Amino acid sequence: DSEDAGAIECDRMLREPICCILGHVDAGKTKLLDCIRHTNVQKGEAGGITQQIGATYIPVEYIKERAKPREGIVIKVPGLLVIDTPGHESFSNMRSRGLSLCDIAVVVVDIMHGLEKQTVESLALLKDRNVRFIVVLNKVDRLSGWKHCPDAPIKKALENQSGDVKREFEWRLTKVVTQLMENGFNTALYYDNHKFRKVFDIVPTSAISGEGIPDLLLMLVLRSQATMVEKLTFVNTVECTVLEVNDDKDLGTNIDVVLINGVLHKGDQVNVCTKQGPVTTTIRDLLTPHPLKELRVKGIYKHHKELKAAQGVKIVAWGLKYAIPGTPLFVLKPGDDLGQSEAKSQRNGNEEGNMMQEISRLKTCKEGVYVQASTFGILEAIIEHLNSPGVNVPVGGCNLGPIEKKDVMKASAMLKRKEEYAAILAFNVRVMPEAHAFASESGVKIVTADTVYKLVDSFNEHIKRSKELKKMQCAADAVFPCTLKILPNRVYRKKDPFLCDVEVLEGVVKVGTPICVCVGGTVHGLGRISSMQASNGNQIDSAKRGVVVSVKDEMNDENWQLIRRLKKLLEIA
Ligand code: GDP
Repeated sequence: DSEDAGAIECDRMLREPICCILGHVDAGKTKLLDCIRHTNVQKGEAGGITQQIGATYIPVEYIKERAKPREGIVIKVPGLLVIDTPGHESFSNMRSRGLSLCDIAVVVVDIMHGLEKQTVESLALLKDRNVRFIVVLNKVDRLSGWKHCPDAPIKKALENQSGDVKREFEWRLTKVVTQLMENGFNTALYYDNHKFRKVFDIVPTSAISGEGIPDLLLMLVLRSQATMVEKLTFVNTVECTVLEVNDDKDLGTNIDVVLINGVLHKGDQVNVCTKQGPVTTTIRDLLTPHPLKELRVKGIYKHHKELKAAQGVKIVAWGLKYAIPGTPLFVLKPGDDLGQSEAKSQRNGNEEGNMMQEISRLKTCKEGVYVQASTFGILEAIIEHLNSPGVNVPVGGCNLGPIEKKDVMKASAMLKRKEEYAAILAFNVRVMPEAHAFASESGVKIVTADTVYKLVDSFNEHIKRSKELKKMQCAADAVFPCTLKILPNRVYRKKDPFLCDVEVLEGVVKVGTPICVCVGGTVHGLGRISSMQASNGNQIDSAKRGVVVSVKDEMNDENWQLIRRLKKLLEIA
């Protein structure tokens, strides 16, 4: 039929639009993506949605099946690539990185809350980068009295509601439209939007029961193909952006990229921008995760000879350790001038490179912990989180990839300055045996965890423990002043050890306290208290004023001579 004919014909022309999901924490970004994916997993369809590196691939067949477009509507793109961007505040760097490569965005707004801090921030970013977007007005099922219509188109679902629900919906919608207007955007419900080139669409949804999801999928492809044919035209020139740098136990250093256009091949010579200048290397492996239905297949990744845009891809190659996320990757063709290509690559990387230098200058200080992570984005996010007011852990240095001896050496500089900061906070990285040995030897603590928050918790726990340890060490040297009275007739032993009951007249008496007696204006030292017993017979470490305790005093010979001389006095007492 005409729809299929259109799709096949244009499959050769257009690539998948790349889509980013933004919005305030808890607006429902994750749930929305889950809702889009979920049905597919349940039905176990073939040719369905696949999980990619940092992205989800939604094929056109799936969109058609869920959205059931009216006859005559032709979908020209082969599918949709949704970039998974974490929504937490500390990931704002990553959010903006995701944006620079996306064609269309979804801004999720909680209908009950309207625009929130990060919604406004996202809108500003989109405006700045001139990215088209669709506003999703999520959680419509929370309108009081909402009747669930699972997976229904939103217009149908709304028609099914009572007058009260419809009125509340209209009221909340108007409020959000007004707020968006205040932020400089004209918006309208998508099915009332007849000027979609100027007016942004609003699609109401429930990520729980699926109302409006068909509409959203359809709008994403239709608006993309209507407004950006040029941008979405498939070309044979590779356009590719580095998303992350990873260190993997099995694969070694590798990069996650989004292949925006063109075809990548195993064996291609590529040029990447790194902190240490341009690097030319050869693609050793092109990987994607196994599709859901092939989960039982051994190994986590599927190996490819070639991959066609748009896709999320993992590239394994030498020399990628210092690649800069957000910068482009170029493919060298036979006859290309290497020098020219590298210069081009570095030019593109300079801006990002400068930004990185700025980050390390701004956010690290002389005294602080050392942070090490597997990916650049995570490293930035951890540093930002550590620097945030509620956390306040200063960062003294950072690095990417496995922890090596030189990292421990750098961290060990803190041993002399601020001992508790002589620590490496490690996220998802290997600790090389040499580094491990040197850390134990020098006293540098390596704290590891699999979430940023656990990492901070473990570090705080380490600080607490080392403070306690220090206190105990100091306690051995510190003397707490006290006055004791030897009780009459309660001297049990006068030799090896000296044992008697005393009453604490002033201060606190502790095990280890040196004691003395004053006879005729002369002070005679009696050695240190080796142990104490409470009246109930329990061993104790300290006793306060008014308490009667038995003290045992290990005396050296000299003290013993003294005691003999004082014998008389003690017996009288
Ligand atoms: P994110 O922080 O934007 O990714 O938000 P989540 O997807 O984690 O959702 C935050 C909370 O809102 C979770 O408890 C979700 O179950 C809930 N939620 C998300 N979408 C909906 C929705 O459409 N309806 C209702 N009732 N709850 C939702």
